[in-house]
Amino acid sequence: AAASKAGASYEIALKNTEQGVLTRFPPEPSGYLHIGHAKAALLNDYFAHEKYKGTLLLRFDDTNPNKEKEEFTDAIKEDCALMGIKPDKVSYSSDYFQLLHDYCIRFIKEGHAYADDTDKETMAHERMNGIPSKRRDASVEENLARFEEMKTGSEEGQKWCIRAKISFDNKNKAMRDPVIYRCQLTPHPRTGSTWKVYPTYDFTCPILDSVEGVTHALRTIEYRDRNPQYEWMLNALKLRPVQIWDFARMNFVRTLLSKRKLTKLVDSGAVWGWDDPRFPTIRGIRRRGMTIPALREFILKQGPSRNIVNLDWTIFWATNRRYIDPISPRHTAILKEGVVTAYVKGDSVPLATAPSIVDKPKHDKNPEVGMKKVAFSENIILEQEDAKLFKQDEEITLMKWGNAIVRKIEKSGDLVTNLELELHLEGDVKKTDKKVTWLSSAGLSLIPVELVHFDHLLTKDSLQEEDNFEDFLNPKTEWREQAFADGNVADIKEGDIIQFERKTFYRCDRPFAADGKPAVFFEIPTGKTNN
Ligand code: ATP
Ligand code: MG
Ligand code: MG
Repeated sequence: AAASKAGASYEIALKNTEQGVLTRFPPEPSGYLHIGHAKAALLNDYFAHEKYKGTLLLRFDDTNPNKEKEEFTDAIKEDCALMGIKPDKVSYSSDYFQLLHDYCIRFIKEGHAYADDTDKETMAHERMNGIPSKRRDASVEENLARFEEMKTGSEEGQKWCIRAKISFDNKNKAMRDPVIYRCQLTPHPRTGSTWKVYPTYDFTCPILDSVEGVTHALRTIEYRDRNPQYEWMLNALKLRPVQIWDFARMNFVRTLLSKRKLTKLVDSGAVWGWDDPRFPTIRGIRRRGMTIPALREFILKQGPSRNIVNLDWTIFWATNRRYIDPISPRHTAILKEGVVTAYVKGDSVPLATAPSIVDKPKHDKNPEVGMKKVAFSENIILEQEDAKLFKQDEEITLMKWGNAIVRKIEKSGDLVTNLELELHLEGDVKKTDKKVTWLSSAGLSLIPVELVHFDHLLTKDSLQEEDNFEDFLNPKTEWREQAFADGNVADIKEGDIIQFERKTFYRCDRPFAADGKPAVFFEIPTGKTNN
């Protein structure tokens, strides 16, 4: 509901929607979805299901068996579901291999395509310089024979490809006889070894958009040069035209958004997997603590922008913070390193009169978040960082308890080891400078937790074309701290988002379990720091 409200105010619209709207999201199953794909998927979903009463098609663009795997198809379906995207229909480009093949034959027969065995470099050079291929004017019979040869996957066949005969010197280089079919011997996950030739994206996409009834094809803006080519294909086959709607590609600073590069990091073991919390995949950012409504809001707000910008993660995480802050339970964690024990005296209000375990709200401003148990006792622990600032006879505030006066400070070197605090509950908590978190070391058992902080995988904000990303990998991206948390933390489940007070928000990656190993909490960026 938050997304529809937010979406409605963004002023993004399609033209010519009177005849209905059918959009499609066409991922290649060559990796897991990342936040860039989320933009494409959510925009298509928004137009099909929120803005217009239309239809959304999820089409797997599986025309390159060298890169594609069934694992990725399943993951993409799951990630769409995770984002709340429910396609009305799922299809595969491979469902249409026969049809695409027949269209290729038709292209050849009608003089719209030719077979070419020009080597890669020469072809690139010729395309760059507007030089026609020596095969450009081969006869229909010859071209058909070459295509037949390609279909056998023979050594000779593999030297050839089929190119659309559009232009060799058009100002727009995308129009310079693009390749439409090539040989590929790797068996296809869905069609096995039926085919040895596969259509390219440039050929497949316009044809299937038209054939599958797509009314509006959303494409990232860097395809703009390829729009005339897309239209040319449909025109040459006398197929129904499709309207193209361009949107800006989304990039983030210090972030790789390329399945090819992400695959390399997964395969080399540089990250834990596709759901690594440092990864820009849907699974990665979710594991880091991103929530789906925040993702939808953030992306739909980017929707109308056609500028390719290098976004900062700050706004993204600040959006998320607005969603998690009002509903996240508050807990306490005290770092183990340098932990300080304190003895609390209750001269003015004897401790014995305070019940040792009290129910307190988990969120001061939102009673719906529920209640937690807070234990009070004479023996408590505090953090070194807080204790080392205390001065003799200073009045401080023990949060959710009241004021106390620091009566004794014991040190070992620079480190505080023990404190004696005298309760002064009639003191005004608004008048103290130091308000500290603490935990009773008696009454409720403390839960061991591990707090994990991450940094970006890259050291450079914006990689250039010529940069080798492996030269800019951040050597250290993970820090772990051990802490004690309040006993309520034992009930936190994987995926729960909480705040450790005076620290920040965390997502539980591994709950506390009987094995006694610490529960693991990942720090969620909030947009306040530089991550
Ligand atoms: P990658 O380089 O990561 O493989 P791709 O564009 O080749 O990206 P596809 O699976 O072909 O990946 O993309 C599916 C859809 O997602 C396409 O419509 C594509 O334009 C869109 N898309 C991919 N990356 C981004 C991005 N960074 N921002 C916006 N849309 C994107
Ligand atoms: Mg692609
Ligand atoms: Mg790609």
